[in-house]
Amino acid sequence: MQQHTVAASIAQTGVGLHSGVNTHVRILPAEVGSGRYFVRVDLPDAPIIPAQVAAVSQTVLSTQLGKGEVSVRTVEHLLAALVGMGVDNARIEIDGAELPLLDGSARIWTESIAAVGLLSQPTNDSPLSPVIKEPIWIYEGDTFVAAIPAPETRFSYGIDFDLPAIGNQWHSWLLSAASFAAEIAPARTFGLLHQLEYLQKSGLIKGGSLENALVCGPDGWLNPPLRFANEPVRHKILDLVGDLSLVGNIPQAHFLAYKASHNLHIQLAQRILDLGR
Ligand SMILES: [Zn+2]
Repeated sequence: MQQHTVAASIAQTGVGLHSGVNTHVRILPAEVGSGRYFVRVDLPDAPIIPAQVAAVSQTVLSTQLGKGEVSVRTVEHLLAALVGMGVDNARIEIDGAELPLLDGSARIWTESIAAVGLLSQPTNDSPLSPVIKEPIWIYEGDTFVAAIPAPETRFSYGIDFDLPAIGNQWHSWLLSAASFAAEIAPARTFGLLHQLEYLQKSGLIKGGSLENALVCGPDGWLNPPLRFANEPVRHKILDLVGDLSLVGNIPQAHFLAYKASHNLHIQLAQRILDLGR
């Protein structure tokens, strides 16, 4: 068996979407079997927060991990980049409570990982990956996320918005590192113009801007061009990959979602983990 870590360290700096606070991140090689984990290097004793479902502390508009009073927010795009590029073990040092949004996608993380390359880590431990033998469904109203037994790992996602520039979009993608970098990682965060004021009044999206998120209004996109005609739904796949990475090894399955949220994604991740008990 082989696991992988980054072959050299990666550094990025930027503003967090919700906090508006600038943070510095370093991704460092980590020992075989250690998994992906965050280290709050700005706090006394540098507390560690594992990137695991059990550490999820909040799922409103982004995924937050925490342990006690210590947390790290908006982890999903970096985690998607790591799992999408095949990085099993990584020490992620951060000097604040929210990951930088960068350009709103996972492209910069993915390119940084590709630039340093991966280090193979031989191990005798086989991965503890639950097997999906029967469909798992999580739904709320008409929104759902599911894992279906399948011969390969595929993600299919649908969204539906009243705004004509988004409308009803579906995308289906077969998991592979090469296609992740090209097809999913570049898809950016998107927001709806009519919700921005409410979110800002609620103390959210303080770091959001037309540079790091696509914004859609009744007359179309405020900041075109899009990177893909269906960039929003591809971004939802990116979020789902990042959230499911909290299982550890994403099991082989067809993951299917419609109008889902971080909350539903995490509920599915928990149900998958429960299979292994
Ligand atoms: Zn996202």
